[in-house]
Amino acid sequence: MSKNKKKTIIYPILEGDCQLIDSHCHLDMQAYQDNLDQVLAKALTHGVKRIITVGIDLDSSRAAIRLAEEHPGVFATVGVHPHNVALLEDHHYEELAAMAKKPGVVAYGEIGLDFYYDHAPVDVQIAHFARQVDLAKQLDLPLVVHDRDAHAEVLEILTRAFPFPAGGVMHCFSGDSAFALAIIELGFYVSIPGVVTFKKAETLQEAVRNVPLDRIILETDGPFLAPEPRRGRRNEPALLLFTAEKVAELKGITLKEVAEASTANAEKLFRLGQI
Ligand SMILES: [Zn+2]
Ligand SMILES: [Zn+2]
Repeated sequence: MSKNKKKTIIYPILEGDCQLIDSHCHLDMQAYQDNLDQVLAKALTHGVKRIITVGIDLDSSRAAIRLAEEHPGVFATVGVHPHNVALLEDHHYEELAAMAKKPGVVAYGEIGLDFYYDHAPVDVQIAHFARQVDLAKQLDLPLVVHDRDAHAEVLEILTRAFPFPAGGVMHCFSGDSAFALAIIELGFYVSIPGVVTFKKAETLQEAVRNVPLDRIILETDGPFLAPEPRRGRRNEPALLLFTAEKVAELKGITLKEVAEASTANAEKLFRLGQI
């Protein structure tokens, strides 16, 4: 048998008109270029009716807006990821503000701190994170925050910028229960990635048990971090079902309950309205 042969996987089934929202995906990335239409069709087949495609720099923010224009059910965010802030200048902020007012833009991000990788100096990351938080607040948009190995610093900056009338989400949540509860205090949602399906993700699994259902949303972070049973391969919105199923198992509730709650939460945060 060929090494590349894909093992068939069995998707959990969403009942009736139940649906999911993938609150964080990077549909503009190279990984989807060859078959984006198929990826979107497959998402629909598996109940993922809406997808937020997230900007990480000016180009991808532009691409996100275009994707939202072209595809029903796709919405965009605008922002500059901590990896890409080193070259940000004043005039870029004007561009970002203008882009953020375009149709289909539902949040500002992803912005934040990433101390795991070293793509931009810490002080530069912190300065641009704080400045983009201010901009998002001026624009009255919810925040999409990226935090890798920077929990304390992220919390400090957000605490200083509190309150957030438009709310926000800690995407690809990777902290513990105490950190989750601290950001909930700031009015944030906690977005659970496919990592929660990994055997060793005990801290995240414990956090999911402790976060109230009305604060949980779900994401793929595709093309990265595919859940089991697709770990290590390209992630895509349809695989969100496996993350939802794991959250249901951890909370001892049904998949339908997780779908209904996480969808209602994402609709509220991103002001999507019901479909
Ligand atoms: Zn991120
Ligand atoms: Zn991302």
